[in-house]
Amino acid sequence: MFNDFYARDISKKIRSTLTTKARAGIYHSTVPPFGYRKSPADSHMLLRDEETAPYVIKMFELSASGRGPAAIANYLRAKKVPIPAYWHHVRGERAWQGYKGENDASNYRWFDTTVRSILQHEVYIGNLVAQRQTHIFKVGKSFVRPKEEWVIVEDVFEPLVERELWERVQESFSNPTRARKKTGLASIFSGIVFCDTCNRRISFVPERAEKIYVGSCMEYRKIGRQGCTPHRIYEKDLYDAVLKDIREWAKLALEDEQAVLEKVMEHENRNEPDAGAAIEKRLSLEKRLGEVEKVIAKLYEDYALGKAGADEIDLLLPKYRKEQGELKAQLALFQEESNEQRETTQNAEKWVALIRQYSDLQKLTAGIIRELITKIYVGDVRKVDGEKVQSIEIHYRFIGSLPDGARK
Ligand SMILES: [Zn+2]
Repeated sequence: MFNDFYARDISKKIRSTLTTKARAGIYHSTVPPFGYRKSPADSHMLLRDEETAPYVIKMFELSASGRGPAAIANYLRAKKVPIPAYWHHVRGERAWQGYKGENDASNYRWFDTTVRSILQHEVYIGNLVAQRQTHIFKVGKSFVRPKEEWVIVEDVFEPLVERELWERVQESFSNPTRARKKTGLASIFSGIVFCDTCNRRISFVPERAEKIYVGSCMEYRKIGRQGCTPHRIYEKDLYDAVLKDIREWAKLALEDEQAVLEKVMEHENRNEPDAGAAIEKRLSLEKRLGEVEKVIAKLYEDYALGKAGADEIDLLLPKYRKEQGELKAQLALFQEESNEQRETTQNAEKWVALIRQYSDLQKLTAGIIRELITKIYVGDVRKVDGEKVQSIEIHYRFIGSLPDGARK
C-alpha cells in the first residue's frame, strides 16, 4: 500500500526541481526533526544527530517488537530521555527560546502522540516530505492534504532506520486489530463514542480471546439496568458504518460540491433552536466559575489576614483551582462551538474540503476518525418489523450531525 505514494519513476530533473522548491519554501523555517541536526554548512540539510538519533532508532525497535506508542512514551520517561522541545531549547532554536519545563520531570514528559508522530515520519528513511498541508485562503485554515498530493522527495537525507523496519512499524499503525493484539492498544474509537440515552461513554473491551471488541454503556456496565440499558455494539459494525458514511459523503462532495454545501447549510440552519439550551448551560457555567473564583480570592484573603493557615490553603486551593480549570475548559468549548455556529457557510466549506479527501478511504485509523469526527452517539439495539436496528449518530467536525437521508 505504501509504494503507491511514491513517484518512483520521477526523473532526476524533476526531482531536483522539487528539491529546490521544497528547500526554498518549506524546510528552512522549521526546527529539525528529532534525531537530526541542521547542517552548519547548509541549514536546509539535515544531518544525523549523534546525541538523539539512537533514541529514534530505539523507538522504532520497540515499536517493531510490539510496544504501542503509550508504552514507548513510558519507557522514554523512565529512562529520562529528554523530549524534543528540550533539545530544541538547549540548542538555541529560536522558536523554542522561551521553553522552560515547569520542573525537571517535564523535560522527560513524553506523550504517545509525540511518539506516534515520530514513528510515522518519513524523514527517518531519508525522505523529504513537503506540502503536507494545504492552505485554503477562503476559510483561512490549513488542512492536511491527501497523501497523494504530498511532495515526497526520496533519499534526501541520511536515513536513521532501515526502510524494512520503518515499513513494519507503519503496518502496525494501519492495521488496528493486529496492532492492538500485539500492543494492547485501545479501540480506535475510544473516547469519542457515547450512549445516546445517558450520555456516558461507550467503552470497548475485548470479548473472546481479544479477537472481538464490544462496546457498551459505562453506566450500564457499572450499575446495571437501573443505570441504563446495554447499548451494546460490535466495534466492527461501528467501523463499517463509519467508514461507509465517510466514503459516501466524500464521494458526493467530490461529484457535486455545491449540492453538498447546500444540504449541509440547510441542515445547520435548522439546528439553530438548540442554541437556547446551550446559552442556558453556558450561563450556569459562568455563574459557577464566578463563585469558584470568589472562593479562591477569599482563601487568599483569609490567609493574608491570618484567618486561615497554610494547611487549609493547601487542602482547599487545589480543589478549587481544579474546578476553575475544568469550568474554563468547558466554557472555552462553548465559545468554540458558538463561534463555529456563527460561521455556518465557512464551516460547511471547511467540512466539504476535509471530507472530499476521503472518497477512496480504505481503512479507518484513530487519526482519521479524530480528524473528521468529534463524537458518535450509539443507540440501543431495537427490533423494527422483526429486524434488529441500531442508531449511530456521527457528529462531524465543523458541522455536527447530519440527519438520516440527508444525502438524498
Ligand atoms: Zn447509557
